[in-house]
Amino acid sequence: MREKHWYDYLWIWALLYFLLGFFNILFAWLGMIDFLLPLGIAVVRGDKAFCNSLCGRGQLFNRLGSGCKLSRGRPAPKWMSAKWFRVGFLIFFLTMFGNMVFQTYLVAAGAGTLREAVKLFWTFRVPWGWAYAAGTVSDWVAQFSFGFYSLMLTSALIGLVVMVLYRPRTWCTFCPMGTMTQGICKLKNAGGQKDSA
Ligand code: SF4
Repeated sequence: MREKHWYDYLWIWALLYFLLGFFNILFAWLGMIDFLLPLGIAVVRGDKAFCNSLCGRGQLFNRLGSGCKLSRGRPAPKWMSAKWFRVGFLIFFLTMFGNMVFQTYLVAAGAGTLREAVKLFWTFRVPWGWAYAAGTVSDWVAQFSFGFYSLMLTSALIGLVVMVLYRPRTWCTFCPMGTMTQGICKLKNAGGQKDSA
């Protein structure tokens, strides 16, 4: 059996992140680590070390899907791993991210008010006021927390649904972070080959 490393337990971090958001929404900012680290690693090293070893979310899907046998283990439909779908989903995801940042900007500029709610699937607004004591931080800081947590929770829920329906890590086939890091690695490695030619 393969020796266990500290990073094999990052699935606990993935769980903890969502739990913390139930108690204090400001912890949502910690999710930026999972946003920036994969991109940083891909840019600097030109590989997918984050996906391969450091992604708590991927590990969590494995644990729940294979370990707890919550996945049917069926192959996902082919379109889910097709380029048009992966790129389309990435564009959609980035657009939603941009919209979330814009809402944060509106609150910062005084043109919008803080909404103490989590928006699931970009549609359903769930009141979440218990997780934030008004006035603790600037309204825009709190607004970003609610928006970012919404994005993280929504993507995790989509990942859980496809985990149950198909194979444990089906989410990884169209995960926006996976698509972005793959693109960066391709560009970087193509550049490296040109340099050595
Ligand atoms: S594709 Fe996404 S969820 Fe899967 S390991 Fe990579 S970053 Fe994690």
